[in-house]
Amino acid sequence: MYELTVEREFSAAHNLRDYDGACARMHGHNYLVQITVGGPELNSQGLLVDFGDLKVIYDEVLGKLDHQCLNEVPPFDEINPTSENLARHIYEVIAEGLPEGVTMRAVKVFESSRACATYSEGD
Ligand SMILES: [Zn+2]
Repeated sequence: MYELTVEREFSAAHNLRDYDGACARMHGHNYLVQITVGGPELNSQGLLVDFGDLKVIYDEVLGKLDHQCLNEVPPFDEINPTSENLARHIYEVIAEGLPEGVTMRAVKVFESSRACATYSEGD
């Protein structure tokens, strides 16, 4: 199995619903997202998938979140815009756009340099 990890960033505001603490108030993060995909075979160029192609896919997904109030963007108008839910949403949307033979492995969402949530379909 080969794996590729790409980091992208976006900035957004959010507040957590039904939460007792400072994060219940509107505030912002510069999110760092690490997206890892994998696959068993390389193409004739020795690539699993071109990094440039991945960045196009990722930027389309993350562009819909960038400089937004996440609480107003589906599905976060209904579910809490936590890092955990962001990681799962990003994972599921990107999974739909990957080329054949490439699958999602994990999405990590850092809302600060010291706090990260990971979503994967492992055990
Ligand atoms: Zn926050």
